[in-house]
Amino acid sequence: MTATILDGRAMSADLRVELRTDVARYLQECGHAPGLVIIRVEGDAASGVYSKAILRIANEIGVQARLELLPAQTSPDELRSMLIRLNHDHTVQGIIVQMPLPTHLLQQIVTETIAPEKDIDGISIQSAGHLFLGLPGMLPSTVAAVMEMLERSKTPLEGKHVVVLGRSNVVGKPLALLLLQKHATVTICHSRTHSLPSITRQADILVAAIGRPNMVTAEMVRPGATVIDVGINALPEGGIVGDVDYTSVREVAGALTPTPGGVGPLTNVLLLKQCVQAAWDQLRVHTQCS
Ligand code: NAP
Repeated sequence: MTATILDGRAMSADLRVELRTDVARYLQECGHAPGLVIIRVEGDAASGVYSKAILRIANEIGVQARLELLPAQTSPDELRSMLIRLNHDHTVQGIIVQMPLPTHLLQQIVTETIAPEKDIDGISIQSAGHLFLGLPGMLPSTVAAVMEMLERSKTPLEGKHVVVLGRSNVVGKPLALLLLQKHATVTICHSRTHSLPSITRQADILVAAIGRPNMVTAEMVRPGATVIDVGINALPEGGIVGDVDYTSVREVAGALTPTPGGVGPLTNVLLLKQCVQAAWDQLRVHTQCS
């Protein structure tokens, strides 16, 4: 068997077209485009690449985005003040703070301060609470990307056994909660899980979000299973691979995401999708209040 390849680039292109239309509709109704601010504290080179990619997509779909680049020595109070200012800025509907932050700036500053309605990467405590309770709210963009991938590939979830490898707050844990909401039977595995292959082989759908290059091999996959590879691992010799050994797993799985070209291209677009959604939500609240 050779797996169907789930093409994240093609899905991302379709979604960008849909978003362009939605933004044009918002502009017509509201008189201005949705506004997005990316806060980046200098220090992490990779986050500079992500910022540029987000700005490029924003520009393509018509979202008014700008980067606030802060020096590495920015104090906790300065970061908090900037967030509070943006929370009250009516031209801004979405805020992203690029991670990782320098060690003296705790992520907690962001999770506690960012306005939940503008938290388009779903990292605030309120967003996490909404997800836990099954209420509508913002999702971490990677999780939203995995769900979009499953939906667009028409992968049924109800009653299926999904094994999620990884229990981080940004991927594994929130993804498991969402899959439960979709009536999947979910098993979460992590670095202390015993007999990992015997569990992964039970999966109808296997999601790998562990950050270990090529760790999931063909022997760990049930023939015909859908395999979603969230991992992005830079190799010392250059190049990027996922957590899944693409070459061997392709021969066993029923469907598989490639890396690069799978979940990655969808992630930033989902961030923008949530920004546009946030803009519509805020417009509705504003209209109801005025
Ligand atoms: P993370 O915070 O480092 O979490 C990794 C998780 O994997 C932890 O729960 C860890 O278990 C588990 N793990 C590590 N080694 C394991 C092993 N040998 N067996 C079983 N579980 C193991 O990473 P993350 O932020 O969730 O990211 C995971 C991967 O996704 C990374 O490659 C990252 O680059 C990628 N990523 C991709 C996107 C995208 O857009 N595609 C976005 C975000 C992240 P413990 O909890 O026990 O330590």
